[in-house]
Amino acid sequence: MPLIVRLPRTNITIVWSVLVAAVACASMPVQADWHAEKKALMGTEISVQLWHEDAEVAQRSISAVFAEMRRIDALMSTYKDTSELSQVNKLALDRAVVVSDELFELIHRALQFSAVTSGAFDITYASVGQHYDFRAGQKPTTAQKRALLASIGIANIELNTVDRSVRFTAAGVRIDLGGIAKGYAVESAVALLQARGIEHAIVTAGGDSRILGDHRGRPWGVGIRDPRNRQQLAAQLPLQDEAISTSGDYERYFEADGIRYHHIIEPATGDSARKVRSVTIIGPDAVMTDALSTGVFVLGVKKGMALVNSLAQIEAVIIDARGVMHFSGGLQTDAVAKL
Ligand code: ADP
Ligand code: MG
Repeated sequence: MPLIVRLPRTNITIVWSVLVAAVACASMPVQADWHAEKKALMGTEISVQLWHEDAEVAQRSISAVFAEMRRIDALMSTYKDTSELSQVNKLALDRAVVVSDELFELIHRALQFSAVTSGAFDITYASVGQHYDFRAGQKPTTAQKRALLASIGIANIELNTVDRSVRFTAAGVRIDLGGIAKGYAVESAVALLQARGIEHAIVTAGGDSRILGDHRGRPWGVGIRDPRNRQQLAAQLPLQDEAISTSGDYERYFEADGIRYHHIIEPATGDSARKVRSVTIIGPDAVMTDALSTGVFVLGVKKGMALVNSLAQIEAVIIDARGVMHFSGGLQTDAVAKL
């Protein structure tokens, strides 16, 4: 299992010893001043681990994180009929729907990521995507796809920055923030911890993590899962003060006639994206890493890496359709570090 670090590094030997320390700490039990909790929320597992000397402050902070996750879920889930986003999906074809600043801003950012990824990240994927049910093994019919493919496209969304409203300009449009909302939630949660004076923490929602500070003198060790073996890590990264998101074809999927149908949809076709198995993005902000991991997944190795290498502060590890790992220009593996 390779260990991966960011370039540039001045002293390879020092980097190597830091990496060994990171792996050691990853397997250590949580100590007295470390506090941790996990819960099933937002259709995924949310975990918080943080350091604080005062157990009461720690516990209150952890509760605040879960409350924040619930708040964001209530606002943005498409599984909840009462969410603000569900109201938009219901009403925005008939009239402009005025939304909260928070939802408006996140939709606005989502549209910017569509531009950055040349349309690979597109929240209107759901126009067709809503007809997949991965638990039930259902996919849209050919007729549904044909009828709704034209509803995918950010040109079908009109954002009015004056009254902060959202309107759909074509029939059949549906938006879903599943590719960006978890990153937003962990980013918001970490901001909340910072405001409470917490300096060392990791908040994870499914495949999206935001790290605050280091692991008290060492980097945090974050693993990338082997897409075809649940028990195994494909790589490990020592990180501090960064966000990391992984999008994979192995979380929500079913197979039919030997084809894997999974939850990342190519907006151009309405079918699951199959150029790669997983994409991990490392960067300063979890909203960014979440959206980019989904977008780069759709783009594949060639176009995806070209995009990542053109963006400042963003790195990627891509596992392609054959299981081969690819690294962006600012990363190096231990094979290099050991020389
Ligand atoms: P996870 O939800 O497992 O963390 P991702 O961050 O990769 O994984 O997001 C996948 C989710 O993003 C899907 O479940 C869906 O809600 C949404 N999605 C799927 N395809 C796209 C796309 N092309 N653009 C934007 N969002 C997408
Ligand atoms: Mg994502």
